Amino acid sequence: MEYRKMTRLGKQTSLLGFGCMRFKNDEEGKIDRPKAYALLDRAYKAGVNYFDTAYVYLNGESEKILGEAMAKYPRDSYYVATKLPCWDIKDKSDAERLFAEQLERLGMEYVDFYLLHAMNRGIYDKISALGIPDLCAKWRDEGKIRHFGFSFHDNYDAFEHILTSRDDWDFCQIQYNYMDDNDQATTKGVELCQKLGIPLIVMEPLKGGTLAKLPDDAMAPLRAIDPDASAASWAMRWVGSHDAVKVILSGMNEDFQLEDNLATFENFKPLDEAGFAAVAETKRIIHSRVRNGCTGCRYCMPCPGGVDIPRVFSIWNQYARYENPHTARDFKHMKPETKPDVCLECGACESKCPQGLHIIDDLKRAKAELEAIS
Ligand code: SF4
Ligand code: SF4
Repeated sequence: MEYRKMTRLGKQTSLLGFGCMRFKNDEEGKIDRPKAYALLDRAYKAGVNYFDTAYVYLNGESEKILGEAMAKYPRDSYYVATKLPCWDIKDKSDAERLFAEQLERLGMEYVDFYLLHAMNRGIYDKISALGIPDLCAKWRDEGKIRHFGFSFHDNYDAFEHILTSRDDWDFCQIQYNYMDDNDQATTKGVELCQKLGIPLIVMEPLKGGTLAKLPDDAMAPLRAIDPDASAASWAMRWVGSHDAVKVILSGMNEDFQLEDNLATFENFKPLDEAGFAAVAETKRIIHSRVRNGCTGCRYCMPCPGGVDIPRVFSIWNQYARYENPHTARDFKHMKPETKPDVCLECGACESKCPQGLHIIDDLKRAKAELEAIS
C-alpha cells in the first residue's frame, strides 16, 4: 500500500482512502451491512487506514456502519474522518449537539480528521461569524478531534479566502480529477496547498464514476501504454502524482472496484512524462466528442417557448463525451415544459448565440439522440 506522510501532523495515511457514502442497499431496501463490513474489512486488511464519512451520508447510517465495522480493530490503527453539516447551524449549541451525535453514532471517543462540510464562501463566512471554526479548534485542543479542516465546493478565490483566513488548518479536502483540474479549487488551489504545506485530501478522483469507463477512442492513448490498466487506475494515478495529495477518496461499493484500486495503490506508480501526455490526449479526445460548442453562456435565454436551451445542450454534450447512459437519464428527468418539444421555432435564440449555433436543428438532434437512449 502506498502511504503518504503528513509531515506537519506527524501522520502517515494510505494514499487510498475509503469513502463511505455509496454502500448499496439489499433487496429490502436497507443498506447491505454484511457487504459494507466485508468491503471495509478487506480494505483495512490490505492497508487502507483512512475512512471518510459525514453526518449526512446515507441518512446517518454511514457513520454508524463505519463505527460498527471498525470496532473490532485497535482504535489507533486507523483514521476516521467525518464532517459537520454547517448549512443548518444557527449557533454553537447546534454544532455541539451534532458533534455529540456523531461520536455516539461512530461509537468513538474522538475523531481523527474533522471537517466543516462543503464550504463555500457564503457558508464559511456565516459560520465563522458564529464562532464554529473556533469551537472546532477548541475541540482539537481538548483532544475530541485530532485534526481540523474543511471540504470545499466553490471557486478558487473562495478557496484562497478560506484557506488563508486562519493559520491553523491541519488539512483540507477538494474535488480534483484530470477533467476538472480547472474547476472549483483548481490546480492553482493544489499548488497553494503545496506551498503552504497543507495536506490535501481529494474527493471525486473519478468524477462521480464517469472516468471509470471511457469510450474506446478516449481509452486508446492509455491502452497504447498499458493495454491492461483500467481507466480508473489512470485517473487515480493522475491525482496521486501531485505531491500535496495525501489521500484519494474512492466511494467503493463493489468488490471489483476495491480490488482494482488496491492493485493501483499497492504498487503505486506516479505518472511519468509519457503517462501525463497520454492522459492529456485522452482529455483532448473527450472534449472533442461534444455535439456542439455550447458554452452555457445563457445569452439565448430566456426562450419565449420555455426551452432550457443550455441545459439540453449540457446534457447532450456530457452524454457525447462519455457515452454514459446515466447522463442521458438527466434529460428524461427534465420538466416537459423546458424540453425541446416546446420550441416555437421563432429563431430568437439563434441571433443571440455568440457561437453561431443552429439551435433549432440542434435541439431536434439532441432530443432524438437522448430519447433513443433514455
Ligand atoms: S427558436 Fe425555439 S428555442 Fe429558440 S428562442 Fe425560439 S422557441 Fe426558444
Ligand atoms: S447562447 Fe449559444 S452558447 Fe450560449 S448557452 Fe445559448 S446555445 Fe449555448
